[in-house]
Amino acid sequence: MAVLIDGKAVSAKVKAQVAQETEELKAKGVCPGLAVVIVGDDPASRIYVNNKKKACAAAGIYSEEHALPGDTTQEELLDLIDTLNKREEIHGILVQSPLPKGLDEAAVVEKIDPQKDVDAFHAYNVGKIMQGKYTFLPCTPAGVIELIKSTGVDICGKQCVVIGRSDIVGKPMAMLLLHENGTVTVCHSRTKNLGEICKSADILVSAVGKAHFVTGDMVKPGAVVIDVGMNRDENGKLCGDVEFSEAEPVAGYITPVPGGVGPMTIAMLLKNTLTAARLQNRLGS
Ligand code: NAP
Repeated sequence: MAVLIDGKAVSAKVKAQVAQETEELKAKGVCPGLAVVIVGDDPASRIYVNNKKKACAAAGIYSEEHALPGDTTQEELLDLIDTLNKREEIHGILVQSPLPKGLDEAAVVEKIDPQKDVDAFHAYNVGKIMQGKYTFLPCTPAGVIELIKSTGVDICGKQCVVIGRSDIVGKPMAMLLLHENGTVTVCHSRTKNLGEICKSADILVSAVGKAHFVTGDMVKPGAVVIDVGMNRDENGKLCGDVEFSEAEPVAGYITPVPGGVGPMTIAMLLKNTLTAARLQNRLGS
């Protein structure tokens, strides 16, 4: 039976630390501020944005929402980013994805001032992640690293397998594991012998987006299994990529979905907003 990695508990610790440091920053006259931009009426995006706003309020971070209609033009969106870039009391800018069809998400991300890019999606910050010189941690992968560290398992020298190579999860995840001195393999839809490769992993991170994808026979006994996936099963129930009932008896440590990686992503966003406020006011990092 695996030990359950409690993402809510680990994220609560990170959030408490951020709240304390936010108080200290406020005492120096700076209140961290986050602007969240949402375009259109995607129901999942609405939930994510509400959760981010609530988490900011709980940590004492100022947040404001810019909810734009689905027919917003690229130019209008870029103008808003430009305005937010210039506002001193806004330290972090987050554009909730996905954007409605017809809007160029990459161009919007590139318009964000890299110092305010709290998602760490801008090419400048992606480059920093490659170099291991982080200003901002990529939120979901950084949350995964915290979860792995919470188990006490040392990443150094371990076989780490990441399934998925997206720009927001898989690739930065692989980089962070590499910077922790893991031996990293990245798998994707063209990977051959996926099951065999996964079974060699001391640390297995799945970021595919398919329910029931990682089965029990793909898990090495005693492995740390981190499930980034957020999917709906046949009954509409929230689930990850990992077939939990099969993997849990084999793994050493495993994250549940919900209650695993999800809460960590928001905690890391708060941490980045605090970092941004400090940097922009030359009060450390
Ligand atoms: P994505 O952009 O769709 O990437 C999925 C990756 O999985 C791709 O690299 C794809 O390979 C790979 N893949 C698909 N089918 C595969 C197969 N049969 N075998 C091996 N690899 C396969 O998704 P994402 O944005 O990275 O997100 C992944 C999951 O994480 C989603 O469920 C998402 O909702 C969730 N997520 C959760 C959080 C959180 O806070 N918990 C945050 C972000 C994302 P190719 O590159 O070859 O197509």
